[in-house]
Amino acid sequence: MQRIAVIAGDGIGTEVTAQALRALDTVRDRFDLDLEVEELDYGAERYLRDGTTLPKGEIERFRNDFAAIYLGALGDPRVPDMQHGREILLALRFELDLYINFRPVKCLADQFCPLKAKTHDAIDFKVFRENTEGIYVGVGGNFKKGTADEIAINEDINTRKGVERIIRAAFAYAQKNNLGRVTMSDKSNAMRYAHDLWQRVFKEVAQDYPTIEANHFYVDALAMALLRSPEQFEVIVTNNLFGDIVTDLAAELQGGMGMAASANINPDGLCLFEPVHGSAPDIAGMDKANPLAAILTMGMLLEHLEHREASRAIENAVMQTLHAGHLSEDLGGHTGTSQMGDAIVERLSA
Ligand code: ATP
Repeated sequence: MQRIAVIAGDGIGTEVTAQALRALDTVRDRFDLDLEVEELDYGAERYLRDGTTLPKGEIERFRNDFAAIYLGALGDPRVPDMQHGREILLALRFELDLYINFRPVKCLADQFCPLKAKTHDAIDFKVFRENTEGIYVGVGGNFKKGTADEIAINEDINTRKGVERIIRAAFAYAQKNNLGRVTMSDKSNAMRYAHDLWQRVFKEVAQDYPTIEANHFYVDALAMALLRSPEQFEVIVTNNLFGDIVTDLAAELQGGMGMAASANINPDGLCLFEPVHGSAPDIAGMDKANPLAAILTMGMLLEHLEHREASRAIENAVMQTLHAGHLSEDLGGHTGTSQMGDAIVERLSA
């Protein structure tokens, strides 16, 4: 028996997770999977009610009792600064040491490809974004804040261990999946200390994978190449900041936020699966959210738990649903969230 902890969260997180769970139920029955779901009410409602973000000991319980965690989205206009969401996400990311933010970028239909003269199959690559270091760690400070002489500093933290493990993960993934090329992206021409470390480690690790081509793009050149010739990319590995930007650009190449799935991975531990989008308060509760990112994310979770047939069935059902013309508003159609879910379930049950 494998148990999945599900935190639907806030806003459209609850709506899209409901559809992802319907897809999960359907494949569980169809493929006779021994899976159990525990739904948890962590999110803004709970936080506003009793101040709970993640109770003490909860991460330990996750580690002991669950095979994976699924998260919808966190964020609510009633909670300033997304304090609850930050606490939950940061606790999960750092205590579980989820150092790989894994982002498959695949365009499923030509109509979602924003590039002139490209077809959907030109866009099919994976991004390994470092998830625990870099400039987002919050090391820094202000001096003379609020004055004309203010200095504001954010330090960019790159450790040998941190850089090596994300680069190794990218190569290991390429090898396991018979992919021929890993691209590392940095700005070593300008950031001469931190990104020199990335350069050295990349060259070193690449030697352990002689059959895989190791190439390099400065991040500005990568942004151009992703638009001009995305078909050349198979696996891209980069730091936290650049990964953040590159994966948003990449999400647009696959049809937008409503289509982008992700996983936060520690290869030796418990992993967290979540659609890339947030809680989207502007459309929350309106049955307008596209649930496909959430459903594809559930497919990734199943693949991670080695239920490959079920995972493939989900991706196929998404493809068939799109080809049948069931499109939510963000994709240019009028199909509501639950109707999109109906279309998926119908195809998964067939
Ligand atoms: P946060 O990430 O801080 O929760 P957010 O939810 O506003 O913020 P995103 O998730 O990046 O940010 O979404 C930006 C906008 O994209 C949303 O406000 C919404 O209009 C649109 N959007 C995001 N996800 C979806 C979706 N699944 N279906 C349809 N539209 C979406």
